[in-house]
Amino acid sequence: MVLRKKSRQTQRENPMNTIVQKYGGTSMGTIDRIKNVARRIIAKKEQGNRMVVVVSAMGKSTDQLVAMAYAINDRPPKREMDMLLATGEQVSISMLSMALAEMGQKAISFTGPQVGIKTKGVHGRARIMDIDTTKITQALADDSVVIVAGFQGVNENDDITTLGRGGSDTSAVALSCVLHCPCEIYTDVDGIYGVDPRLYPPAKKLDVVSYDEMLEMASLGAGVMHTRSIELGRKYNADITVASSIHDVPGTLITASAAATQKPITGMAVYNDEMMVSIKNVPYDVNISARLFSALAAAGINVDMISQTSPIADRMHISFSASHDDIDALEKALAEFQAAYPQTAVDLREDAVKMSVVGSGMKAHPGVASKFFRLLSAQHFPILMVTTSDIRISCMIPAEARERAVMAVADGFEL
Ligand code: ADP
Ligand code: ASP
Ligand code: MG
Repeated sequence: MVLRKKSRQTQRENPMNTIVQKYGGTSMGTIDRIKNVARRIIAKKEQGNRMVVVVSAMGKSTDQLVAMAYAINDRPPKREMDMLLATGEQVSISMLSMALAEMGQKAISFTGPQVGIKTKGVHGRARIMDIDTTKITQALADDSVVIVAGFQGVNENDDITTLGRGGSDTSAVALSCVLHCPCEIYTDVDGIYGVDPRLYPPAKKLDVVSYDEMLEMASLGAGVMHTRSIELGRKYNADITVASSIHDVPGTLITASAAATQKPITGMAVYNDEMMVSIKNVPYDVNISARLFSALAAAGINVDMISQTSPIADRMHISFSASHDDIDALEKALAEFQAAYPQTAVDLREDAVKMSVVGSGMKAHPGVASKFFRLLSAQHFPILMVTTSDIRISCMIPAEARERAVMAVADGFEL
């Protein structure tokens, strides 16, 4: 996004008391819930705040739109898919605006294109480049609550684009960056937990988590926040709070520094849609590895973990993981590779999941990796691949071991 970098100073000043709030699909899922959202907005407004509210499509309506598209076309054109999916949020913004009007509160709704959310990049995964705040500031000056459709924008061809599933978080954080104000994300959990409470019900809520940790957790599968929203938040130093749209309890602050270093591990994430590819008997020649990964890149396949064995008799094994979304392109690229090197054997495994532990505290606490592997080894399943960074350890495991692995690691690290 092409914005001026702001200091925390500017953000704290926020002289106009503007707040960006975002309400997700579950929070907007029924008429009663929309009324609940409207009441919450009015309460905050009555405290003297200017309110900009981003909403997602009601309940599971985006999933229903996706299903409708696939019912008519196995490979729906991406431009038309965005045209369709963006309608979900248009329903929500108008409904919320009507609820506010019914309660006597002036409000105006805008779609992403109407409010000048300019995007670049491919349909279905567009990135916000710029936001024109003119309309929003005019409406706020007019004492209206401004309601903006999340998840969408408009590209340089005037086509409607969407930001990727869960993208309303990014719309909200981007708006808070251009309006220099805090961002409050309201959802169906009380905040960010060490582990998704649906996977591990005893999980503990975090009071604070750093951008770096949240970015790792989000990109490793913690679907509570859209990854790009945290990238933007970190870049522009936005104050982001994640809290419940129903319970009035303190949520989690996502910020630059977190007091997380007392614990070696802050959180865990599981990514289910990963596939693992093993190629055996590859000639030991770096040009061949380069050729393989260039072909994958050219096919638009995002390769994640990579491992390579030491050569034996001038042959090596290469393994890597990629997202299940890319399966068609991957199968094609692998078939081409095998045709070029017929002595290789390719195995594509779809029943694998990636499990990761994340924590800035890892840097200061030795022995985290040994504890992690000890906890897993007690469960007796193979670890298929491992990667690390300075604040995370990820491993690929068989899908059938997922529950056991989550319990063992979450219990062991008291997440
Ligand atoms: P919304 O519709 O409000 O955007 P999402 O479904 O996108 O809500 O995100 C909220 C969900 O994220 C929760 O219901 C929870 O199951 C899941 N989740 C995944 N990881 C975490 C985590 N670490 N902490 C809290 N919730 C998590
Ligand atoms: N409605 C969109 C989705 O379901 C965007 C969002 O919820 O953030 O992915
Ligand atoms: Mg979401």
